[in-house]
Amino acid sequence: MTLVEVSKREHCPACDATQVSNFVHVRPGSDVEVYVACAACKTFVARFSLRAYTCEDPYRSYLRFMRRRRMSSGAAAHKKADEYVKELWDGYARVKEVVQAREEEHSVEELLDGDD
Ligand SMILES: [Zn+2]
Repeated sequence: MTLVEVSKREHCPACDATQVSNFVHVRPGSDVEVYVACAACKTFVARFSLRAYTCEDPYRSYLRFMRRRRMSSGAAAHKKADEYVKELWDGYARVKEVVQAREEEHSVEELLDGDD
C-alpha cells in the first residue's frame, strides 16, 4: 500500500469515542508534548511531540519556528523501551496533576514564546 496522505480522528482504545482532551506540556529546552485523553472515559489515547505549533496567527508561529530551527542540532537521544514507557506514564501523570492543580490560562503560543 502506498501511503499518500491521510487524516483521521483519534479514537479511544477503550470506548472508541472521538471526543478527546489535549493536555499541552511546555518545558524549557524540550519539544512540546501533547497528552491526549478520552473525554468520555479518561483513558490515555496518545502522546504527541511537536516540533512545530501553529496557532490562529500562522505568521507569528512561522517566525518562532524559524528562530528555533536555527538553534536545534537535530540529534535525538536513543531511549530504551522501558525508559521510554516509564517517561511517558510519568509525564502523563504529571500533566494531569498540573492541570488538576492549576490549569494554565495562557495560550500555547504565549507559552512557546516564553521558552526562548
Ligand atoms: Zn474512552
